[in-house]
Amino acid sequence: MRIPASEHKIAQEQICERADAIIRKLQKAGFEAYLVGGCVRDLLLGLTPKDFDIATGAHPEQVRKIFSSARLIGRRFRLAHIYYGRDYIEVATFRAPHDESAQGQVNEQGRILHDNVYGSLEEDVWRRDFTINALFYDPVSGDVLDYIGGMQDLAKRRLHLIGDAEQRYREDPVRMLRALRFAAKLDFELDGPTGELIYSMGSLLHGVAPARLFDELLKLLHSGQGWKTFLLLEQYHLLSALLPVTATSLAHDVDGQYRKLLQSALTNTDHRLAEGKSVMPAFLFAVLLWEQVHTQMVQAQLKGHPELQALHIAATDVLRDQVKITAIPRRFSNVTREIWGLQARFRHRDLRRATILFNNPRFRAAYDFLCLRANSGETIVADDCEWWRSFQETSPEDRPMLCKNSG
Ligand code: ATP
Ligand code: MG
Repeated sequence: MRIPASEHKIAQEQICERADAIIRKLQKAGFEAYLVGGCVRDLLLGLTPKDFDIATGAHPEQVRKIFSSARLIGRRFRLAHIYYGRDYIEVATFRAPHDESAQGQVNEQGRILHDNVYGSLEEDVWRRDFTINALFYDPVSGDVLDYIGGMQDLAKRRLHLIGDAEQRYREDPVRMLRALRFAAKLDFELDGPTGELIYSMGSLLHGVAPARLFDELLKLLHSGQGWKTFLLLEQYHLLSALLPVTATSLAHDVDGQYRKLLQSALTNTDHRLAEGKSVMPAFLFAVLLWEQVHTQMVQAQLKGHPELQALHIAATDVLRDQVKITAIPRRFSNVTREIWGLQARFRHRDLRRATILFNNPRFRAAYDFLCLRANSGETIVADDCEWWRSFQETSPEDRPMLCKNSG
C-alpha cells in the first residue's frame, strides 16, 4: 500500500539532507532507494529519529562504486557505510528472508548465521522485526510504503512481530530485548504472542554473543527510558537471563533498599540523558552488580581478608560471571572497580587523604555512587555523603577547618 504525502505527516524538512542526497543519487543511478525502519517510524510518530537508515536495491559493491566514501562492513550481514568525516549513513541492500541455502543459514536452535541473500523491497519487509519497523519512505515522491500493516499498528500503538512470533524470536532472541526497548521508548503495547512468548523464551538469550548483549544492554538502559525498561525486563523475566546477579539481589531485597538504589540510579541516568549530559557504562555496572559484590565482600572479610582485598576478590568473581553474559570491555569494568574501590576511602577525613581522593579522576563518579547509596537508605554512609558535600562547597583555603589532623 502506498500512502501519499497528503495522508501522513512526514515533512520533507525533517529528512536528514545527507540521507536525502544519497537516496536521490541511488535512484538516479537506476536503483530503488528509501528511508527505512526506525527513522520512518519515529517521523510518523512525531519523534526525532536517532539515525536515518537507507534500504536499496543496489548491492553493497554497487553502492561502493557510486559513493567514494562508502565502506563495506559486516560478514553475517554485509552493509555499506557512507562516511562524512566521522559520521556515516548506513545503506543496506534489500534482503530476502533467510532460507537453507549457502548464504542464508540457521543453526539447530533456528538462529540465523548468515543473512546475505539479496532480494526485492517486498521481500525485505519480511525479514524485519516489527511491523512498525518495516515501513519505507521515498523522500522523492513523498510516499510511505506499507506492505504489512505497520501504519495500523502505529495508530494502535502496538508492537507486532512480523511472521510466526516463536520462529522470529528463535532466529534472533535479541528481538525480545528490542521489543521491550521499543515498548518503553514509544509507550507501545506488546501485541499477543509478541509479548506472551517472551516469558517462556528468555533462556534463548544465553545463545547470543556476549558482545552483542553488552551493546543491547546499554541501548536498553541508556536510552532515556532506563528505569521503565528495567521494570519491563523484570516483568518479562528477562532480567535473570541478562543480569542474574541483579535479579538475585532483588529477590533477597526484603526492605526494598536495593530497588531504591537501582531506581534512583536509573531515573537519574534518564534525567541526565534528557539534559544532554553524558552517562557512563562503568557507573551503570557499578550499580547493577553492587549488592552482590557487597555481599561477597562481607563474606570474604568474615574469612579474614582485609577490606580492600575482600573487595578485590568479590569484584573479580562477580565481574567474571557477568562478562560471560554481557562482555563488558575492560576499559569500563576497570572504572567500575575503581568506583567500588573508592567507597571505603570516603571515611578518611584528614586533609592530606581527602585531597588525594578529591583529585582522583574517578572522584565524581565514586561520590555520586556513595550518595546514591546513602539516599537509598544505607545509613552507614549518610555522614560521609554529607561531609563530602560540604568539603566540595568549601573553598580550598577553608577546607583544613573541616578536616581532622593528618595522623
Ligand atoms: P533505533 O535506531 O531508534 O533504536 P531502529 O528501529 O532504527 O531503532 P536499528 O537497530 O537502527 O533500530 O535497526 C534498523 C532497522 O533494521 C529496524 O527498524 C528493523 O527494521 C531492522 N532490524 C534491526 N534489528 C533487527 C533484528 N534483530 N531483526 C530484524 N530486523 C531488525
Ligand atoms: Mg536506527
